[in-house]
Amino acid sequence: MRRNITIAVEGCCHGMLDAIYEQLRIRERQLGKRIDLLIICGDFQAVRNPVDLETMSCPDKYKQLGSFFRYYNRARPAPIPTLFVGGNHEAGNHLRELYYGGWVAPNIFYMGHSGVVRFGSLRIAGISGIYKDFDYAKGYYERPPFRGHMRASMHHVRAYEAFKMLQIRKPLDIVVSHDWPVDIERFGDTEKLLRHKPFFRAEIERGELGSPVNAMLLERLRPAWWFSAHMHTRFEAEVGPEDTIFARGWDGIKPYGSMAGAGQLANSAPQNRDEIQIGDSDEEGGQPAQALLPLPPARPRMALNLPPPKFTATATDTAASEAPAASPPPNPPAAAAAASPLQPLAEEPATLSDPRVPGRATRFLALDKCLPRRQFLETITLTIDVPDDSPLQLEYDAEWLAILRLTNPLMPLDETPFVPPKHQLLPEDVSPRLPLFSDQKVDRETEWVRRNVFPHGPVYVPPNFVPVAPTPHPSTPDEASFGLAAAAAGGYGARGRGRGGGGHRGGGRGGGGRGPYAHGNAGHRQPPDVAWQGPRPQVVYHNPQTDEFCQMVGLDDQLTQRRR
Ligand code: 5GP
Ligand code: MN
Repeated sequence: MRRNITIAVEGCCHGMLDAIYEQLRIRERQLGKRIDLLIICGDFQAVRNPVDLETMSCPDKYKQLGSFFRYYNRARPAPIPTLFVGGNHEAGNHLRELYYGGWVAPNIFYMGHSGVVRFGSLRIAGISGIYKDFDYAKGYYERPPFRGHMRASMHHVRAYEAFKMLQIRKPLDIVVSHDWPVDIERFGDTEKLLRHKPFFRAEIERGELGSPVNAMLLERLRPAWWFSAHMHTRFEAEVGPEDTIFARGWDGIKPYGSMAGAGQLANSAPQNRDEIQIGDSDEEGGQPAQALLPLPPARPRMALNLPPPKFTATATDTAASEAPAASPPPNPPAAAAAASPLQPLAEEPATLSDPRVPGRATRFLALDKCLPRRQFLETITLTIDVPDDSPLQLEYDAEWLAILRLTNPLMPLDETPFVPPKHQLLPEDVSPRLPLFSDQKVDRETEWVRRNVFPHGPVYVPPNFVPVAPTPHPSTPDEASFGLAAAAAGGYGARGRGRGGGGHRGGGRGGGGRGPYAHGNAGHRQPPDVAWQGPRPQVVYHNPQTDEFCQMVGLDDQLTQRRR
């Protein structure tokens, strides 16, 4: 049967789940109907405790606990199924536990560093992080305790994830990213955007506003919708079916254009030296970095003067999905089951299809962060195909699991640039300038997944959330910074000074501080703070969801469960 569902899209979250769910309740009352799904486009800040807060990529002075931990420890249920991708301000240690995606709380699902899930017949892909050319080619070299540049680079999108996303060849309804696709502003009202954000002009003129990775992915994936955030302004655009947003291909993204050959940039350290500053300064908690943004200091934050949030419902008749099941591949799947993904392409006529739906445009919508008078929330009505009217649940996607099986053995784990495995890809004359497996290779693997993971039909993402990290006492205020903010402001409880002293004790358990979480002096500008009591939380936890997932799909989890 066909059914209308309403999805809500939110821009940047910054730990403000309570406020966002409250706005959704108001919106539901205005609409007179339920919102079926919430999509949050990054800077989610899934902070559970002081170690997550300390590891989070943002200047210490902005570090506040937020309301997420109340969802994590099950004190508050998320009222609406919620999906999110990572941005550049995240508890990166927490999200890494769930590299392949997973529940960060009951009903709140992280899409992974990249990922595809289904919701009814909606097929939704996400890619986390922001683009920084100096980290793009690197593998996942970051190791606990994730100090220094690692805290920023953990949120910088990797070529390896782009490579995975490029392998998608069945149509997508929605793609979610934190930063915008480069050049997307050309497909909407650029002048209006510049009135709100005049300091974007130079980058727009250079074609450098946003992420070339997302533009490359949009060029190939052409979902019905693409949602983003990060620029802190609402913007809409439409890329028509005949339009080209990115013609440069894989080598058109730095550093690949300058890589002479496979592995030649293995030692890219000199390149990083000055750029690290840029990387660090982009995390200025909303303060545009000088190196990136030549913003005159006197200019007011334009968005503060925007009109009240407009919750324009955009109805569409998007026939949401293709039939879920692909036709059986030409080759018997039995052989594929045993085949190693690393084996060279077999002698067979190779074909290449892409996920474009002929004649269909991609509608782009970017939203702001959750603050008064900002346009941070919007609802969209979509028509989907469902077997009955039972509540919709998240499902795994067979093609994506196949792509994970094919690409997981290639996961780069150090700083050596990732180079797609040439011998496994189609020759360039067949797939100009994008590193793509043949349809046959992906189809064979998808068939394996259907037989072995989905033998009885769809597989719902199990509600297997369990908290693995400790959370503060429930009476801890959301504003708590555990001394980090005070330390950054030069407060008494400066990090590393050992025992905290004096200052107010907030509503928490109080008591003596210890170590880096010593009770900070609340100072003049800081809210009353509380001390963390009990053992110091770990930086990384073993997450059983990742184990279950890897076992189900047959993946060797090299990243999150490695012995360190
Ligand atoms: P965040 O909240 O992630 O720290 O930073 C977002 C802020 O940086 C927003 O104010 C946004 O306008 C700005 N920003 C993000 N990406 C870009 C970019 O590529 N160019 C420019 N000029 N500003 C950016
Ligand atoms: Mn951001």
